[in-house]
Amino acid sequence: MEKEIIVQKFGGSSVADIDRIKNVALRVTAYKNKHTDIAVVVSALGDTTDELEALALKLSQDPPEREMDMLLSTGEQMSCALLAIAIKELGFDAISFTGSQVGIKTDKSHTKARIITIDGKRISRAFKENKIVIVAGYQGVTSNDEITTLGRGGSDLTAVALAKALKAKVCEIYTDVDGIYTADPRIVKEAQKIKTITFEEMLEMASLGAQVMQARSIEVAKRFNIPLHVRSSFSKEEGTMIIKETEKMEEIAVRGVTCNKNEAKITICSVPDKPGIAAKIFEEISKQGINVDTIVQNVPHDKLSDISFTVTKADLNKAIKATNAIGEKIGAGEILEDRNIARVSMVGSGMRSHSGIAAKMFKTLADNQINIEMISTSEISVSCIISQDLADKAVKALHKVFKLEQI
Ligand code: ADP
Ligand code: ASP
Ligand code: MG
Repeated sequence: MEKEIIVQKFGGSSVADIDRIKNVALRVTAYKNKHTDIAVVVSALGDTTDELEALALKLSQDPPEREMDMLLSTGEQMSCALLAIAIKELGFDAISFTGSQVGIKTDKSHTKARIITIDGKRISRAFKENKIVIVAGYQGVTSNDEITTLGRGGSDLTAVALAKALKAKVCEIYTDVDGIYTADPRIVKEAQKIKTITFEEMLEMASLGAQVMQARSIEVAKRFNIPLHVRSSFSKEEGTMIIKETEKMEEIAVRGVTCNKNEAKITICSVPDKPGIAAKIFEEISKQGINVDTIVQNVPHDKLSDISFTVTKADLNKAIKATNAIGEKIGAGEILEDRNIARVSMVGSGMRSHSGIAAKMFKTLADNQINIEMISTSEISVSCIISQDLADKAVKALHKVFKLEQI
């Protein structure tokens, strides 16, 4: 009989200390039997990645990305070894591997590398020896043997990519919440657990700030149709299934509210209003590898207009430098930056067939005296950029008005 393969991923909070690592070892071994092989992906302990990053920033404002990958990847190397030790202590055989050791090959974009291939041979050999395999999440290696990381939250991506490479029957994502909720349960007490959500909706929620899953991991799960089960590492309860679209799910107009506080806004004042200027500005910014999100151009006055756009806070300094350079070239006015912004979004695939969601969202914000600075929409979402100080208030109000506690 062919053995079944399970991939289980445990996030940072699930392995934050020794007791939690022991808990994970117990959970993992409970699934191991003659007919099942398990590959476990782990994140770094608790806030280790943030702490390592903070150390580097004490030495340099702009540390080299290659060295950041060398540094940040050590967090996961530590947790996978500790988990292997804990599992062996329970009398099971286990072996830990770094991303490089299991052949997770990536491109060369340090700190946000993309997985190109996974050579699962080493894992298959360990399975043949009946070992539980523990893989360090969030990392890979280039064709030049340079260590890379897969972007923050990247252990989710390691898990999904391994599930695909190993043809796993199940891919479980264990975290500190018992599933995907209608809003971040840390902000909205009344948020409800969602039983099933589509890849598309989850991708939108993750891209718009729902930190619970890394957006890129959902992209891969969607492309290869790998169902994901997001559940708690502290309870036995069923979590949320992330799956392909079903007809019934399309009827739900609004699935959840998300909030992203990681963006900043740049405004270029008094930009000459003539053809080709916007192209020049955004070409210069994209040359620096900076992703721009919402863009708004004001109505011109006296042949001058203001252009505002958002970037991630991590890219802000780089973006300001590039904007100053281009601003001078095109004869624009002052360049302003605002870190105190948040993106609040409503997401739901039913938005394609339901109208009035945007209007109701704007009215709710207005009723709460919250000013909208920018608006953007996609087929299945509406986002407003507002002041970060009012973000939690906005999320709570929208959750209530859209009656998401009743789903
Ligand atoms: P892990 O360390 O397991 O990867 P993360 O901290 O990355 O966990 O993600 C889990 C957190 O995501 C939760 O504690 C929760 O506060 C937050 N979160 C944000 N939005 C949502 C949502 N819609 N549903 C569930 N959790 C959410
Ligand atoms: N440890 C990495 C991070 O904090 C990767 C992960 O947790 O998924 O982003
Ligand atoms: Mg995470």
